[in-house]
Amino acid sequence: METTHIEHIGIAVKNLDESIKFYEHTFGLKCYAVEIVKDQKVRTAFFELGQTKIELLESTEANGPISKFIEKRGEGIHHIAYAVKNIQSALIKLQSEGIQLIDNQPRKGAEGLEIAFLHPKSTFGVLTELCEKKENE
Ligand code: ZN
Repeated sequence: METTHIEHIGIAVKNLDESIKFYEHTFGLKCYAVEIVKDQKVRTAFFELGQTKIELLESTEANGPISKFIEKRGEGIHHIAYAVKNIQSALIKLQSEGIQLIDNQPRKGAEGLEIAFLHPKSTFGVLTELCEKKENE
């Protein structure tokens, strides 16, 4: 698997608008996109720092994965996303090594990236996302 950089760090928050203000005022970052990802029942906000982004995640539904996460563990770091060169072959390789995948096939994530999650049981407790940016889209 060829991993190039940390694409983003996902942070679960209760109130997206309040947390956007915090990141803008306190850290001097600029939120450049707010997007709803229906699939994942989240509203997301993005900030860019070099090659890496901060992705704030607010649940859009009471039974969504982010509300469940916050209920169990409180607000905080939800996942780390690595940029990879070929997500399809990365998933095949991981599966062949017995790594537990949440997504066997890449799917569309925020910002049009191809994404797939690995189960935290196989990654020392860290919910891990792989992302691939398709150049010609
Ligand atoms: Zn993510």
